[in-house]
Amino acid sequence: MKAAVFEEAGDLEKLVIRDLPDPTPGPGQVLVQVKACALNHLDLWARRGAFNIALPMPHISGSDVCGIVAALGEGVHDWTLGERVIIAPGQGCGQCEACRAGHDSYCDQYKIFGFQTQGGYAEFAVTEARHLIRVSRNLSYEEWAAVPLTFLTAYHMLFSLARLQPGETVLVHACGSGVGVAAIQLAHLGGACVIATSASDHKLRRAQRELGVENVVNYDRENVVKHVMHLTNGRGVDVVIDPVGPAVWEDSLAILRRGGRLVNCAATTGMETKISVRTLYARQISLMGSYMGFRYELDKVVRLAECGKIRPIVDKTYRLEEARLAQERMENRENFGKIVLVMNSNFES
Ligand SMILES: [Zn+2]
Repeated sequence: MKAAVFEEAGDLEKLVIRDLPDPTPGPGQVLVQVKACALNHLDLWARRGAFNIALPMPHISGSDVCGIVAALGEGVHDWTLGERVIIAPGQGCGQCEACRAGHDSYCDQYKIFGFQTQGGYAEFAVTEARHLIRVSRNLSYEEWAAVPLTFLTAYHMLFSLARLQPGETVLVHACGSGVGVAAIQLAHLGGACVIATSASDHKLRRAQRELGVENVVNYDRENVVKHVMHLTNGRGVDVVIDPVGPAVWEDSLAILRRGGRLVNCAATTGMETKISVRTLYARQISLMGSYMGFRYELDKVVRLAECGKIRPIVDKTYRLEEARLAQERMENRENFGKIVLVMNSNFES
């Protein structure tokens, strides 16, 4: 099969197209013919070797797969060849205390598909049958690929961690990112008013026009604290959704109302930051870290996509052979929504 892989960590040119043997499903596993695979920032970090984690090499990235069931491993009976599926990107062991409690992202063995395993930048991928989710034809392959990781993350941040209530105000940083686009839609579904931030006026306009965001702030050009305080009549926001980290940290704390919640899911602008402990206790702020989400939340996300309550935003599609161009677009932060690789078999069928 064709796959986009890197054989060692490094820049974009390390991402190359290779012919690899088709993977074979072991007991309990399923072979999926990949039709579309969305990119995530995680793919860039993995390729750059940013984590101190041993990845399977040569490494196939790609955590957001939609495809069809192509072969069944031993002992797998409840799937039919040709069924349309997505792969759950967060994969717990299924047996430990955390997994049994439904909190699989707390599992010690928790893996992200396409990061700690081989992923979907390829014509075929293998995963445990229990990590498959059936999906309908209500959405295209590339739209389904744009759903799992970021909508799961945003769902977990807003509902399980921040416990969003109708009538609250949510500020979503980096509104054009996958998590940003998902968080805006889910916050609206939860009955919240949304303020979106970005460094790009173009993305802010799209957030208003396409996602119905009520208010926007350009954090490059505008004083975020002043602007948000003005928008909220001096009250501040209830929840901040932060996929950015240090660059927006101080502002995020300053715009939270007393008792507000800051939920972070990534650090794209550095790893270290400062916090005044007094701010934390006196203003009764909750700081929460979010990593993926729980499998039952992904089932809910899929249901919302099935009935049209959330709408995946496909920014741009590329062929597998253009994986480098696709990653370059993400690296340059040109995307609004998800960048998706589409396999050649998708054009044939
Ligand atoms: Zn587990």
